[in-house]
Amino acid sequence: MKMSIAIDGPAGAGKSTIAKIVGEKYNLMYINTGAMYRAVTLCAMNEGINPDQVKELCELVDSLEMHFEKENLIVNGVDVTSEITMPLISNNVSKYAAIPEIRAKLVELQRSISKKYSVIMDGRDIGTVVLINADLKFFLTASAEERARRRYEELRTREIEVDYETILNDIIKRDYMDTHREADPLTKAADAIEINSSNVDINGVVDIISTYIDGILN
Ligand code: C5P
Repeated sequence: MKMSIAIDGPAGAGKSTIAKIVGEKYNLMYINTGAMYRAVTLCAMNEGINPDQVKELCELVDSLEMHFEKENLIVNGVDVTSEITMPLISNNVSKYAAIPEIRAKLVELQRSISKKYSVIMDGRDIGTVVLINADLKFFLTASAEERARRRYEELRTREIEVDYETILNDIIKRDYMDTHREADPLTKAADAIEINSSNVDINGVVDIISTYIDGILN
């Protein structure tokens, strides 16, 4: 049975970690749409293209061939997975992701992947825009403090110098921009199942999601 699962939520709610595990468990292709917006940001910044240069940005996106190999994002043959999670990209991505023309191009790519494969896709607008007919939609939340703590631990493990307060402020700023932009802002789809992961660990959230998936498989 072909299946599509949408997971939305704010930065650092655990979407990608959980989507990866659930994807492997049920043999679904994991599509990290945040990585795609990050890759556009990385390439634009490398080329010196600002968010207000919409024509140049559209040409840039058209010149990028993006695909996932497992959970790694390959852009024009280069694995950008690690580079796109650097704080410089996190702090700029929301400005590029707010541009409707860029969103339209990436949404089209995301939909075309979901037409071919069973997918679990995470992002901000998956349940509301990209996969409106998804078999299941989840909205994952956690307090800003808990999300900042997780990001801090993750970056420290990768030996990237960061301080907690800066991460917390960046997360609050990014939440604001992602929920207040005009084009496809982050909102919970009316038919999404909300899971607050502040006090539930990763396995607990995977178990909750698995119960719903088993429900549609049986
Ligand atoms: O998921 P992640 O935190 O990596 O996403 C990075 C940024 O990309 C988000 O803060 C948001 O601005 C943008 N994004 C988006 N729509 C998506 C996924 C990500 O606007 N579907």
